[in-house]
Amino acid sequence: MEPKYKRVLLKLSGEALAGEKGFGLCEDTIGRITDTIKECAEMGVQIAIVVGGGNFWRGRSGVKMDRTRADHMGMLATVINALAIQDALEQRGVPTRAQTAIEMRQIAEPYIRNKAIRHLEKGRVVVFGCGTGNPFFSTDTTAALRAAEIDAEAILLAKKVDGVYDSDPNINKDAVKFDNLSYIEVLNRGLGVMDSTATSLCMDNSIPIRVFGLDDPDNIKKVILGEEIGTLVK
Ligand code: UDP
Repeated sequence: MEPKYKRVLLKLSGEALAGEKGFGLCEDTIGRITDTIKECAEMGVQIAIVVGGGNFWRGRSGVKMDRTRADHMGMLATVINALAIQDALEQRGVPTRAQTAIEMRQIAEPYIRNKAIRHLEKGRVVVFGCGTGNPFFSTDTTAALRAAEIDAEAILLAKKVDGVYDSDPNINKDAVKFDNLSYIEVLNRGLGVMDSTATSLCMDNSIPIRVFGLDDPDNIKKVILGEEIGTLVK
């Protein structure tokens, strides 16, 4: 089967790497996710990954501290995750580069757009750490920004929930899942798929977002092969 996409931006939340524990890193979970990423990379799909940091720290968590400093801590958390993903991919023989939006050259390459594209063209998976490098932003917004910069055809937004619902399916058992949504519906209805900055950036740059569940990591492959699971926002 031919992949639907040549180049995608995969957004993995920090939580997605934590497994059952809900905190830190779960080797098994990361292993299953990276096994799938390897399969997709071997189909010739160019994969860039933006990783969150919520499994360690979120700046907006409400702690009594300066928000900018709390966000700096959040960005550092994303670097731990980026390195964990890089390591798991390399263990599986997948050439991978990590780039960070804030320079830490001893640890990873600095983010350079053209270099990131070059890596992708050479078949390397690129993992972006440190979000946008700025406080008051999220890694969802980073995903939108990087997708626009590298000309990704779509954002694959892997979530705990298997799509976008009209209300929280964990609370409301009658919640209804959408197959398709427009950006403006997401914004107007306040649907919690992405924050509004990220959604607006995707809208302004016409980047489709496929939201799906990561309960089965094979879903990444299914989406890349064109299966219409989850919810498409465009
Ligand atoms: N963050 C930031 N600027 C960015 C991206 C992230 O300051 O451009 C910080 C922010 O504190 C955020 C944390 O990094 O809470 C982790 O990112 P996010 O909450 O998006 O992670 P996720 O929920 O996807 O795991």
